Amino acid sequence: MSKKDIRSLSLDQIKKFFLENGFKDYRGDQVYSWLWEKSAINFQQMTNLPKSIRSILEESFIVNHIRVHTIQKSKDGTIKNGIKLFDDLIVESVLIPTKKRITACISSQVGCSLNCKFCATARLKRMRNLNPDEIYDQVALISKQSKEYYNRSLTNIVFMGMGEPLMNYKNVIEAIKMITSKKGLGISARRIVVSTSGIPKMIKKMADENVKFKLAVSLHSAVDSIRTSIMPFNEKMNLSELKLALKYWYKKTKRIITYEYVVWKGINDTIEDANALVDFCKFAPSKVNLIQYNSIDDNKFSQASKDNIYLYQKILEENNINVTIRRSRGQDIDAACGQLANKPSLN
Ligand code: SAH
Repeated sequence: MSKKDIRSLSLDQIKKFFLENGFKDYRGDQVYSWLWEKSAINFQQMTNLPKSIRSILEESFIVNHIRVHTIQKSKDGTIKNGIKLFDDLIVESVLIPTKKRITACISSQVGCSLNCKFCATARLKRMRNLNPDEIYDQVALISKQSKEYYNRSLTNIVFMGMGEPLMNYKNVIEAIKMITSKKGLGISARRIVVSTSGIPKMIKKMADENVKFKLAVSLHSAVDSIRTSIMPFNEKMNLSELKLALKYWYKKTKRIITYEYVVWKGINDTIEDANALVDFCKFAPSKVNLIQYNSIDDNKFSQASKDNIYLYQKILEENNINVTIRRSRGQDIDAACGQLANKPSLN
């Protein structure tokens, strides 16, 4: 029988295991602290446990810890990690340093089931969902690297790596519980952004559950025919459904919605496109991040001209919608948004 990953057990379940095996239940607290707070990768590291307990644990469980497979450092300081999972699949996690922040950009799935035409991860298809501990470990790793490389603490977490977090909702929520818990990394939920391509049903569920993290929606077009042509799943979950879900989100949470939006030449760079965006998002306080397009070796997409991007900015501002033009980081090592696709490291 294959051994169970001990981190799929709750604290209560671990305590129960100890009680059933004739030990005191505080051993459960000790092990739990080693596994999460201290990121132990095996039972031998748990030095405040008697050897006998460590062997029983070893006989019964494994610790499926992530391993750093490759590290690449960009000239702008961004660090991209290729992460090997217990079954040898690989995902990527990125550390992004700026003057004020250090952000961890983490993955929620191996590959992705959505087929956004402009995203390199889409080419990998979805292999599997990440487990809560695999998501947690990425944050713990970047937090450690942040101290090691920059002597600073991790300040923000964005679910903008590989995968669609709302298609792995349960595990993402479990991971966030541990990331924010005092028994885990103790990072405030307000510093976490979950970015979604826009799954209406799951946005409503999140609103009902009154989650405390921030929501970002990758909109890219507020015209159904255009959005469907670049994000084909929009055909089944179209903009009116998305808008209803977001209205519900706002009604329940009263929290601002961030839209991520790339302006592409000849695709969504006209005044009509910008006006459609204004129409789409003015129902609630919102913010638009105009993000830079990161090339994925595809001749169908190219960044719109500066003039057209400024035009977007002007139209949004005239309509009192908060807008920022975002520069991308880590492009030279394929670590920027949409470029995560396990390209082999050249170093
Ligand atoms: N699946 C989630 C999170 C991962 S993508 C989502 O769709 O939001 C993170 C962000 O990068 C999204 O806004 C996505 O639309 C954007 N993105 C994808 N490919 C890109 C590319 N080639 N250039 C710039 N941004 C891209």
